[in-house]
Amino acid sequence: MKIPPINLKAQFKGVRKDILKGVREILDEQKLILGQYCQELEGQVASMTGAAHAISCANGTDALILSLMALGIGQGDEVVTTPYTFFSTASSIALVGARPVFADIGDRDMNIDPGQVEKAITPKTKAIIVVHLFGRICDMKRILAIAEKHGVPVIEDMAQALGARRGGSSAGTFGDIAATSFYPTKNLGGIGEGGMVLTRRPDLGEKVRKLRVHGMGEKPYIHEMIGFNSRLDEIKALALCVKLKKLVSWNKTRLETAGYYNMHLRDLPLVLPAIDDETSHIFHHYVVRTVRRDALQLHLKEKGIMTGIYYPLPLHLQPCFSYLGYKEGDLPIAEEAARTSLAIPVFPELKKKEKDYIIKSIRSFFEKQDEGSEDDQ
Ligand SMILES: *Cc1c(COP(=O)(O)O)cnc(C)c1O
Repeated sequence: MKIPPINLKAQFKGVRKDILKGVREILDEQKLILGQYCQELEGQVASMTGAAHAISCANGTDALILSLMALGIGQGDEVVTTPYTFFSTASSIALVGARPVFADIGDRDMNIDPGQVEKAITPKTKAIIVVHLFGRICDMKRILAIAEKHGVPVIEDMAQALGARRGGSSAGTFGDIAATSFYPTKNLGGIGEGGMVLTRRPDLGEKVRKLRVHGMGEKPYIHEMIGFNSRLDEIKALALCVKLKKLVSWNKTRLETAGYYNMHLRDLPLVLPAIDDETSHIFHHYVVRTVRRDALQLHLKEKGIMTGIYYPLPLHLQPCFSYLGYKEGDLPIAEEAARTSLAIPVFPELKKKEKDYIIKSIRSFFEKQDEGSEDDQ
């Protein structure tokens, strides 16, 4: 059996007809950028999450940069964030001229540890970026209490968590502003690059709308601020509108698969992702941890199962951030997670027999260890 980490071809089969029909209409009309489908997508994401303002843009990294710029963050400012995330959570901070300050993660949820956030705050801290990693919402109650105490705004990087809810609120509506991505492999993945900013604050929403189009307001060619070009194409927005109708059911299937894996792997020497309730984790990735991570990955590869490592090097140890002065051992939980994490396929199109094969293959790795015959294959 061959199992890819994600199967976009299988996903496309279910939406192909509607997307191709819409693409034809758009091409006949030739309204190609920021038109009715972008508006429809913004409206649908706003109503689904409860965000007051939703502004589409070119990609998730731009959504983070737009959020930071809207908050006026730049040279001389510090932004506290997690070292255990995709690169652009922190690169966006550096790209607006500010300094990323890393706070270690919690061992249980792999999300930024509120206690460490509080320790990292200085008089220069101008924002906190939390990441709902792998689809699990952070401990927002504690994060928001700390942010309020210090008068610092919160940005949510929700690129892996669109549709997750905790305590009745959706990812993207806890903080001041939120950034998401529609990169093809995300839970809501487009047919190319795409992103969106969500915010409850009208002042920030208005600023982001201008910043994404060269800082122009109502009057064409009058630039109120120095913005950039970060618009979404109509064809991509249309495809996202079609796929958005399936997101709730896709997320539910991911959660069910995660529960199925947990049930059948719980006796093994693996750290499994905790499932606290039915909504606060949408399993963008299903990540297990073991000190024998590399051997397990190789074993699964030999069985035809492709896994992923998110992420092999925490951001505070990336070559490009050496100027920040971090060294190995500074953020031990993130470093350990980078050494032990392995993402097992959890995409919604997985068939039952594929899930059972994955379980059987993981079990055979540990059974092989027990017999002490690691090398004969
Ligand atoms: C994917 C991702 C991004 C960046 O989104 P792009 O659309 O690829 O620019 C940012 N943060 C996290 C946590 C992501 O997973």
